Amino acid sequence: MEFKYFRKPSNFAFRTDTPKGCSICGMQGIWFDGSGFSGTKDIECVCEQCLTSGKLKELEIETNIVREYGNEDADEIVFATPSLPTWQDCVWPCIDERFLVFERIASKQDFANKDEFKSAHLPEVDAITDFDFLWDTLPDQQLKNYQEGGDISVYLFSNGDKKYWLWDAN
Ligand SMILES: [Zn+2]
Repeated sequence: MEFKYFRKPSNFAFRTDTPKGCSICGMQGIWFDGSGFSGTKDIECVCEQCLTSGKLKELEIETNIVREYGNEDADEIVFATPSLPTWQDCVWPCIDERFLVFERIASKQDFANKDEFKSAHLPEVDAITDFDFLWDTLPDQQLKNYQEGGDISVYLFSNGDKKYWLWDAN
């Protein structure tokens, strides 16, 4: 299972706890949870095949939010990429008109030190953010999946070898 903009969907995408029938094709499996999707129609879950083949675009169901709609990459994020595992709705970040790749929920191991962490925040991170506090709340060890995340999460993205992050809280 590979997505251009979402590195580890098996670990960091919201998925159903138990096998279910895909709301579009009916195939049974552990599929992407549809409760956070937006659109005129609610679906419970969507399988990998239906997601990657663009079935949600036909149904006008959106998995993610972008700032500018209407090009091929935006369509890929909005209709054919698992939702970001954030607490609040979050616009998929973009730098120099390129969408970033969501890597995982971050830990201290993702950064050489606190200074590197502080300098890697995205422009949309609020200036009043308490960076020292956030650094202290970062898990020491890399998380295996989103279930291991706490009530405050830092989301790690990449653009080539450059790292960026956003955060939010429950
Ligand atoms: Zn399906």
